[in-house]
Amino acid sequence: MEIGSIGIVGAGQMGNGIAHVCALAGYDVTLTDVRQDALDAARQTITRNLDRQVSREKITADARDAALAKIRMTATLIDTASSDLIIEAATERESVKQAIFEDLVPHLAPQTILTSNTSSISITRLGSRTDRPQKFMGFHFMNPVPVMQLVELIRGIATDAETFAACEAVVTRLGKQAATAEDFPAFIVNRILMPMINEAVYTLYEGVGTITSIDTSMKLGANHPMGPLELADFIGLDTCLAIMNVLHDGLADTKYRPCPLLVKYVEAGWLGRKTQRGFYDYRGDGDPIPTR
Ligand code: NAD
Repeated sequence: MEIGSIGIVGAGQMGNGIAHVCALAGYDVTLTDVRQDALDAARQTITRNLDRQVSREKITADARDAALAKIRMTATLIDTASSDLIIEAATERESVKQAIFEDLVPHLAPQTILTSNTSSISITRLGSRTDRPQKFMGFHFMNPVPVMQLVELIRGIATDAETFAACEAVVTRLGKQAATAEDFPAFIVNRILMPMINEAVYTLYEGVGTITSIDTSMKLGANHPMGPLELADFIGLDTCLAIMNVLHDGLADTKYRPCPLLVKYVEAGWLGRKTQRGFYDYRGDGDPIPTR
């Protein structure tokens, strides 16, 4: 089955990036959100990011204009129902996602593929509550979507081969690389990345190293482009903690227990860059200052 049109539900950080790359690849995009201000902000963000690509000569001005013309914004969820493929990228709460699929299903053609960009909710469980678990799978982009090359494609237990192949073809047309993951907690990237970040927080908690020495060690000693604590601030410490909890609960292994210091930072509301303070303090004009 060939996909020509894509409906995206949720116009936040991920949804606007997904709309951007899909429109640039020539798909007809319908982007929806319950909040009109989220749609307005998405339009501005997409335009700004496309403009940046033009100024860096990554795309032409014509390609930017064509992409913008391909995106329809609507506050009505059902307007996405005529798309060949739906990518749900709404708030990470199971009840929210379930309600979206419940509202959409009666309006879908039988062959429409449903997917979710969830980072942590079971694809099999989400799919089992729709009328088409065989046409349901995980379509997991990385943040920021226009920059990151990888898409994890997650098979639910019932996902059929035709659905998987159709989604894989979309990833190729987006110019990205797919990695296949089975439907277990946190899939591949976060299953490996988050325990590493959590271990970096333990290393700090136990006094093995300071924030600076931990980040410098991993940058210069393991050739990582960013230190683990710097990266945690970028991702959001609340998100890191939520994913550790999913691993801990879902795999029932103490090796995934969230570090108490990570919990303390989240309790303090020091969530990283988005609150201007996490393992580093970003409130000044100069370089970020370690907070311990
Ligand atoms: P976000 O908070 O930036 O955006 C979520 C959007 O969904 C909001 O604009 C909200 O108004 C909208 N929304 C809520 N309920 C809705 C509904 N019923 N119908 C339509 N829109 C609705 O969140 P985000 O960071 O873009 O994350 C979205 C999804 O992507 C989550 O499932 C998250 O796990 C996943 N994800 C996030 C990242 C990341 O780094 N942020 C990476 C990969 C995957």
